[in-house]
Amino acid sequence: MTGSAASASPEALAFCFAGSRLLVRREGEGVPEVPTLLALDQRATVGPLPIGSLDGRACVVLALDGGLPPGLIPLGLRDLFPLWPEPLMGMAVRASEVLEWYRAHAFCGRCGTATVMHTTEMARVCPACGTLHFARISPAVITLVHRGRELLLARNHSFRPGFFALVAGFVEPGETLEEAVVREVREEVGIEVRELRYFGSQAWPFPSQLMVGFFASYASGEIRPQATEIAEARWFDRDRLPSPNDRPAPYSIAGRLIAAFLERG
Ligand SMILES: [Zn+2]
Repeated sequence: MTGSAASASPEALAFCFAGSRLLVRREGEGVPEVPTLLALDQRATVGPLPIGSLDGRACVVLALDGGLPPGLIPLGLRDLFPLWPEPLMGMAVRASEVLEWYRAHAFCGRCGTATVMHTTEMARVCPACGTLHFARISPAVITLVHRGRELLLARNHSFRPGFFALVAGFVEPGETLEEAVVREVREEVGIEVRELRYFGSQAWPFPSQLMVGFFASYASGEIRPQATEIAEARWFDRDRLPSPNDRPAPYSIAGRLIAAFLERG
């Protein structure tokens, strides 16, 4: 147990991770309360760290070492996305990202000294050089490119056979979101886009991305997939998309972009 400012109140909800999986109650939905978890005599390797509140109840994140406590089942966040309502899922995402940050900054990236928790901020501070290490979010753009009735879908080499998704990639240093959209589409499929339109964003905890969604109109060029990354890319008529199982899930921002395109009629 780390010496943080996180002494949890008795009724706090425990977002507790074993590896990358969250421990959820076997019966009903949601996560256990901290006393339930402590009664199971588990040893926390991280936390509890406070991460905010949900419906007026404090929430903490912690990580367990070793065996799983009885009565709780470990589920991946991808399994939970379709099951949980947004506020609860949002807190699970936050918990995962806070834990990722905490683990990734045990040592100062500037001088290598072991860091300690800041007394008031959610930051780790280096006692040697004073650098503050806040949680790091990586922005990425995801784009639905459309051409009349068609939209552009692509398959990465890592996708399972038959599965198609939208063009996406990380924002590079010094870039605007719009520049990243134009560059990623150009690099991955070799076409030019125009008329970018912001759609929305989604925290994506694998491990700490902020996915920023755009629509973009096709401007020019022929599809030329980038060989190292893209296995296949093509235009799909809106009435002949891959089946729902072979395209992004409805809870993802990619799925929401596609649904919004189809709803536009
Ligand atoms: Zn340092």
